[in-house]
Amino acid sequence: MSQSPSQGKLYIVGIGPGSVEHLTKKAEKVLIESEYVIGNGTYIDQIADVVKNTEIIRSGMGGEVERASKAVELSRNHVVSIISGGDANVYGMAGLVLEVAEKEGNVELEVIPGVTAISAAASLLGAPIVNDFAVISLSDLLTPLGMIERRLRAAAESDFIIALYNPKSRTREKNFAMAIGIIRQFRKNDNPVGIVKNATRDGESIVATTLGKVMEYNDEIDMSTTVIIGNSESRLWNNRIITPRGYQRKYMY
Ligand code: SAH
Repeated sequence: MSQSPSQGKLYIVGIGPGSVEHLTKKAEKVLIESEYVIGNGTYIDQIADVVKNTEIIRSGMGGEVERASKAVELSRNHVVSIISGGDANVYGMAGLVLEVAEKEGNVELEVIPGVTAISAAASLLGAPIVNDFAVISLSDLLTPLGMIERRLRAAAESDFIIALYNPKSRTREKNFAMAIGIIRQFRKNDNPVGIVKNATRDGESIVATTLGKVMEYNDEIDMSTTVIIGNSESRLWNNRIITPRGYQRKYMY
């Protein structure tokens, strides 16, 4: 039988895309109130100034299952925050932690939302996602490649704006070219594309280009990059991307 929680609580906290300015007030509050903060080194560094007096448990990339189990276990008797970059629901720790908690039963938990990479990247590009969009991760570590390809085709064919998370990693170089190849089968060469690297943190860079030219930037795309492909109505303007919401169909301006 699972134990019932005593005074413990588990927060699953989205800490935003980079700068502490983009950490929500609520996230900051629960991090300060926590007895333990658990996360991988990069994310712990991101909030180091906020959690000066808290017990920190750092773990490497990978090891997510152990990290989630440890957080659930500690939260029986302690206030614990397990952190995710951006938002914990967007390819973050929320899913795994709730799956572990579901098995353990009776865990008191709360998920705290954060600014996700697509919001940060879209803001830097102006207004690229002001209509229906699909978000697709190109990481085939946990999702079969065939399913990623199927989703890319469906999104491209349905004229969704497409945001690509995890476009590349050091060991996974090819999926980005594959994705652009699929999208080009359904879209014109002048379809706008935004490339945002390190949004809101050191090394930030923003490129607004087109589907026909995006592979010229192939070498710059890495695991810190989010790529946004506009829809067939999107247009480039002053190094930015505008996707109309549809007001032009109803109003004169
Ligand atoms: N939970 C995170 C996403 C984790 S997946 C979130 O909500 O943002 C990791 C991917 O997110 C990266 O490969 C990259 O595509 C994107 N990403 C995260 N932070 C970013 C940033 N500051 N700038 C650009 N892309 C970022």
